[in-house]
This record gives sequence, C-alpha cells and structure tokens, in this order.
Amino acid sequence: MSRIHVLSEHLTNMIAAGEVVERPAGIVKECIENSIDAHAKVIEIEAFQGGIERLIITDDGIGMDFEDAHMAFMRHATSKMHDEQDLFNIQTMGFRGEALPSIASVSKVEMMTNDGKNGTLVRYEYGDLVCEEACSCPLGTKLDISGLFVKTPARFKHLKAPSYEFSIIADLVNKMALSHPDIRFKLSHDGRVIFQTSGNGSLEEILYQMYGKEVAQNAVAFDEMDEDFRIHGLLVQPKINRATKYFMFISLNTRLIRSVKLQKAITDAYENYMPLNRFPIVVLNIEMDTQLVDVNVHPNKWEVRLSKQNQLIELIKKTIKNTLNESLRTVEVKPKVKQVIEQEELDLVYTMPEVEPIRKQNDFISKQFEEKIYVKEEPVVYPVFEERKEERINTGSELFKHIKVLAQLHDSYILCENESGLVIIDQHAAQERYHYEQIQKCLNDPCTMTQPLMLPIQIHVTSDVMSRVNTINRNVKYFGFEFEIFGEDIFIVREIPVWFQNVHEEKFFEDLLDLFKEEDEVDMKKLRKHVLSTMACHSSIRFHRPLTMQEMQQVVYDLQKCEQPYHCPHGRPTVITMSDNDLRKEFERG
Ligand code: ADP
Ligand code: MG
Repeated sequence: MSRIHVLSEHLTNMIAAGEVVERPAGIVKECIENSIDAHAKVIEIEAFQGGIERLIITDDGIGMDFEDAHMAFMRHATSKMHDEQDLFNIQTMGFRGEALPSIASVSKVEMMTNDGKNGTLVRYEYGDLVCEEACSCPLGTKLDISGLFVKTPARFKHLKAPSYEFSIIADLVNKMALSHPDIRFKLSHDGRVIFQTSGNGSLEEILYQMYGKEVAQNAVAFDEMDEDFRIHGLLVQPKINRATKYFMFISLNTRLIRSVKLQKAITDAYENYMPLNRFPIVVLNIEMDTQLVDVNVHPNKWEVRLSKQNQLIELIKKTIKNTLNESLRTVEVKPKVKQVIEQEELDLVYTMPEVEPIRKQNDFISKQFEEKIYVKEEPVVYPVFEERKEERINTGSELFKHIKVLAQLHDSYILCENESGLVIIDQHAAQERYHYEQIQKCLNDPCTMTQPLMLPIQIHVTSDVMSRVNTINRNVKYFGFEFEIFGEDIFIVREIPVWFQNVHEEKFFEDLLDLFKEEDEVDMKKLRKHVLSTMACHSSIRFHRPLTMQEMQQVVYDLQKCEQPYHCPHGRPTVITMSDNDLRKEFERG
C-alpha cells in the first residue's frame, strides 16, 4: 500500500497558518494589508485581550461580491495575480492567497462585505464553512475573528500575556500608519482607543502620536533620489535616541520590511552622533521599480530580495549624513512661554505597557554609563597656540564668522557674539567633540607608536576575564594596548599609545575589560566607539573650570575646525544661539 498521500486542504491551511498567523499581530498584519489592497481610506482595528479573545478589522475599501466572498477563503485564491509575469511585478501587499484560509483554519471568522451592490456574510469555524448568505452592511469589509488557536493547543501555549500580544499589535499598527500616512488608522484595546491617525499624509503627526512632541519637533524630513531609487521620510535628531533598534522603520514601495543591511546603513550614517549602543528613530520609505525587488521570500513577507542593494545603501548613507549635517545647526533658544500640558496630548501619546519598563531600564543603564566620571584630579592644561591668526577664525560656517569671545559664565559656558546675536558654547561638550574627531583620526590606522610607562598600570580582573587574555589582546591590539597576566587576578599594562593622555588609565581599562565580560569577541566597531568616546571625554576640559580669554578662544577655534561642530559625541548640543531678533522680542521692542 502506498504510504504517501496528498494532505487535505484543511491541513495545508493549518500548516500555512503556522507561518502567516503565528500570533494575533500576524492576523492584524494580513488583514490591514488586504484593506490597503482594497483601497481603504479608513481602517479600524479593535483588539480584545491582546487579540487572543477577539479581533475586529473594519475597512471602507471596495469590498467583495457574493462569489468573491466565497472564493476568498479558498487556498491559493487571489484577485491580485494572474500569470507568471505578475509574480515579478507585484504591486499589491498580498499575492499568495493564503491569509484568509489560514486564519479561518485556526479560529472562528465572520466576514461581512459589501462591494457597493450587495452585502454578503460568510462564517467559518476552525476550517468549516458554517454560513454563507446575503446580509446588509456598509460598503467595505469587516472581519470578526475570535477563539484564536483554541483548537490548536500547541500554538495557543505560545501566546504571551494579552498586554504583550497587544504591544506587538500596537507596534505593527504604528508602523503600518507610518508607511501609509494617507490612510486613517484607529486602534483600540478592550474598548479603549489607543492610537489614531488623521490620514492627512503627515508623518510628523504620526510620530507625534507615537512618541510625543519632543520627538516630532526634532524630526527632519528628507527626500532624495538617484536613477533607481527614491528615498524619503524623517530623521529624528540624534540627541533623542533609543536603547534598541526597534525605532527604525523601513518600508519599500509602502510595504514594511525588515532588513539588517539597510538598518546598518542607517546606524552607520548616524555613527558619529550617537553614544555607544544607542539607536536613532528613523522613518525610511523607499520607492523603486517593482521588477527590481523580489517580495516572495517568506510567507510573512517581511523580507525582500533587492537588486542593486549596495547602490541603495550608499544613497541611504549619503542622504542621512547630509541631512544630519545640515540640520544639526545650532539649537536656537526660543523664549519659553508657559508650558501647559494638555491632558488630551498625554492621552494620545501611546506607550507599550510591557516594552516601556524595559525601555526605561535601558535608558537608566546607558545614562549611568554616559555619566561615569573618569577625569583625573589635576586639571588638564589647555594648549593655547600663540601664533593663531585672526582671519583663520573668521572662516568656516556662518556661525563662526566674526565670532568674538565675550566672557565665561559660571566657569562652564563661553559667551560669544557673532553677526546674528549671542552664541553660548558648552566648554566641555565643545572640547569633547574636538577630541573625538582628533582621536578618530588617530584610530584610522592601527596604532604603531607606543611609549613605555615608568610604572606599569595594574588592573584587578575576575577569573573569567583572566582566562580570556589572549582573545582580549587580539581584539585590542589595533589600539596599541596589551594586557599581561601578573599574579592571580591582576593584569598589567606596560606601554600605552602616544595619543593616550590625560586619562584615568585604570578606570579606562576596567571599563574596556568590562566589555569582554558580556561577549567573547567584542566587535571592532564597539571597541572603537568605546575608546573614542571615553578618551574624548577624559581628555577634555571639565565643565566647571575657569578659563583664560586665550583658552576660550582656543576652544572656539578648535570647535570651528570640527567637521560636526554642533553636537558632542553623545548627540547633545555644543552650541546654542539667541538671535538679535529673539532678544528684541523678549525685551518687547517689537
Ligand atoms: P491575498 O491577499 O494574497 O490575495 P488573502 O487570503 O489575504 O490573499 O485574500 C484573498 C482575496 O480576498 C484577496 O485577493 C482579495 O480579493 C479578497 N479580500 C481579502 N480581504 C479583503 C478586503 N478587506 N477587501 C476586499 N477584498 C478582500
Ligand atoms: Mg492578503
């Protein structure tokens, strides 16, 4: 007897469901995509108990007639593709004809749809058609899905707490809204509206809804193209950053995608502005010829295969860098009028219940890291170059033109004037930026120049670090560092690179070795960033320190020479300005 047989349609649907509808958010994604393909202008998503109990997705799209409403639940039935040619030129979100039958195989589904002529109701229960009849309903389609995975306990077990499942849905709907700003989205959980967009096409507005005013106000629009791609969207200024990569949204021909390579292009472009292990908030929309992209890589359609990917990466990097350079001008101080926090505003700012504590925790940890104090006790002597010529300081960008140092404020800020008004420089941040760029230049090549120390530096280490001395040395050799075992729990360093000065060495090495506690091999980039930002901070003049006129001029001069003078390596501003106009207004001279 033959052992091989063809699986029943019900079984194949359930297998497909494994890939397409792993969890409630997967269903929401498929349904929203169907609504988008049906040209909906308004899409409403109602979730109950994280979508585990019930999900209702309503749209005002073109709907279906009786026959299509029946066909929609057949496996591999689609209105979106006809022949082979279409597969290489996909213009719609869906094309596989799998979502509805998959969903219907693992839940109870009631669909009401109206194509402008007739209304139809179709009901499925765990793969069985239980009802198909005419009904009255508004134009568009409404899917009411309940009892998810009740008959597939193995899947049910994998669902997490409702609040977690909902946070994934919310995240998805946010991203969908960002990739379709012209559609009105409304999301509610257990009857409470959580997120809502107006569909007026404004990305800033959606960002505002998601993360609040500060993020939206610090978002900069970009729009660039080359012969194959157009990229546009929003970049949030690096001073606002996140501990995870989840805040970079990429869409390709309005389809949300996940791409490690494109994400890396974004983080690379931000690199010089970001503290270690922090990530930007970016909305990146890519438009390209559909024939140059293969979206048929995985059933859930998150991944795509791109032709000319490297060209796209270059365009992304270049555009982001340029946009950041241009926009990271100085922060203008606007006189603060009374700050009224409107309750409505607060209500709208959506927070993911489970993700938020993690985010807060991460923020706390990285803040601790950023604020560690390494500076040695004796003040850094600030080198002043006597022969500096006046005209040199008059070149450079607009801000530094004819800049003149006036005074120092509270041993911390350098007050200057230029042609347009008052310029205030944070002496520590300015120096940090300068040293960062200087050290960055030193690190461009492997270190060859070291100097022996009179007294070797000793560092106490734990046994796990001790046992990995060879790996660690292999990793840090580039910088000219080498650790030697000295007794049971001590490393010593006998030589240091020539550029390694004015640093609390022990503290620096302890922190460097800490990086190896978490991972065996620390990647070069992470190490470089660590060395760079801690060095830059260590060797800078302190925030509270009186400076002579000459020293202040030198700080301004050094800052002016920087490639990115307006922000310190942690993304905070180095300079703020207040224009004559603002001053006049403040003093009510009209
Ligand atoms: P696909 O989207 O890949 O075609 P689906 O199983 O998701 O497959 O949907 C099957 C078909 O049902 C679609 O091709 C479309 O014609 C129809 N359909 C599904 N949802 C809607 C909707 N919200 N409005 C109008 N038609 C829909
Ligand atoms: Mg679909």
